[in-house]
Amino acid sequence: MFARSELLMLTASLAVLAGCATTDQGTRTVGERPQELNSTEASLWYRMDEAEENLRSSGRVIDDPALTGYVDALVCRIAGEFCPDVRVYVVNNPGFNAMMAPNGMMVINSGLLLRAESEDELGFVIGHELVHYLENHALEQHAAARNANITAAVVGSVLSIGVAAATGGVPGQGYSGSGASIATALAYGGAYAYSRERESEADRMGLQLASAAGLDPKAGPKIWNDLLNELEASDDNRRAARANRGGMFRTHPVIQARIEALEEEAASMQGEPADSIAFRAAVAPFINDWLDAEIALRDYGSTLQLIERRIAAGGHEGVFLAAKARVLGMRDDEGDFDHALETYEAAAAYADMPAQAYRDLGELNRRAGRPAEAAEAFTTYLQRVPDARDALLVERYIQTLMGESE
Ligand SMILES: [Zn+2]
Repeated sequence: MFARSELLMLTASLAVLAGCATTDQGTRTVGERPQELNSTEASLWYRMDEAEENLRSSGRVIDDPALTGYVDALVCRIAGEFCPDVRVYVVNNPGFNAMMAPNGMMVINSGLLLRAESEDELGFVIGHELVHYLENHALEQHAAARNANITAAVVGSVLSIGVAAATGGVPGQGYSGSGASIATALAYGGAYAYSRERESEADRMGLQLASAAGLDPKAGPKIWNDLLNELEASDDNRRAARANRGGMFRTHPVIQARIEALEEEAASMQGEPADSIAFRAAVAPFINDWLDAEIALRDYGSTLQLIERRIAAGGHEGVFLAAKARVLGMRDDEGDFDHALETYEAAAAYADMPAQAYRDLGELNRRAGRPAEAAEAFTTYLQRVPDARDALLVERYIQTLMGESE
């Protein structure tokens, strides 16, 4: 995290190979653009303009005025005078991530919005990304790669991967050959997106930016800690640990060290938790879809950990409980069926349980030999979605089930 595009990760690894030459590019000024057309900076900038154009037409950008209006306003609050230089895109991508390109393009993944519990947490990530931008980290990384005699051809291919990464694909692909789960992606992206020094700087200064905007600095270490917990619960990690391959665990000390540094930093800063009412309202219509994308990654360990955390924190309860039931039903380990049924029933106590979950509840009750309960859930489903594509089928189920329960 957070600036994970494959571009940045790969340039980072090139920089690591190069022994990280020091290439301080200074701090950006408002409205700054590359002066020399043939400079490295200009080439990086225009490549990013191309990537931005591709992103715009990719169909992955969420074009919802309420959501983008909320996110834009928060970014502006944190970016201050740099607000006009930043263009924000909220992108359908289950990866826990955000990135900021040197041309002012900021990308915020839906996977980040799904995970953030508050405006404060989202604000910290935005602050972190803004620091990468303001401190010209991408350019420094790029320059470090050049210092190591990495040829223009290599850098060019890296850039083209960056474009692809910004416009599509499941996060994690390209990070590990198999089972490229979200947790795997964040382990690598998180630890190695930029050099450790630049990540520490982005953490520290990002916290200051967020705190100066009136956000709670404790949200910084918290969101990293949540990330670590999710990573540890990942099926990938468990498999890696079982096979005694070490796997992602090697990156944990890095994340742990960043959490500790952030905790220390946050302790000396002011700030109370934001009310987050506007944040929750902005994301509410999307949570269920974002959970679907997360569940489709089929890393049940980390997904369940994420969902449990959100249930404990409160908010969107019907949506998160129904998602938990869905994951249990898909995983179908011993005891999962009964647990899924119970969890759907718990979700049904909340008005925001998605309509589709009533269909699932009906199906589980049908399989459990509870025709009356099944018919009731199917009926609620049809009341919620009268024009459902499977309405005729579900009506037939209800007729049969009513006959059975008489
Ligand atoms: Zn970063």
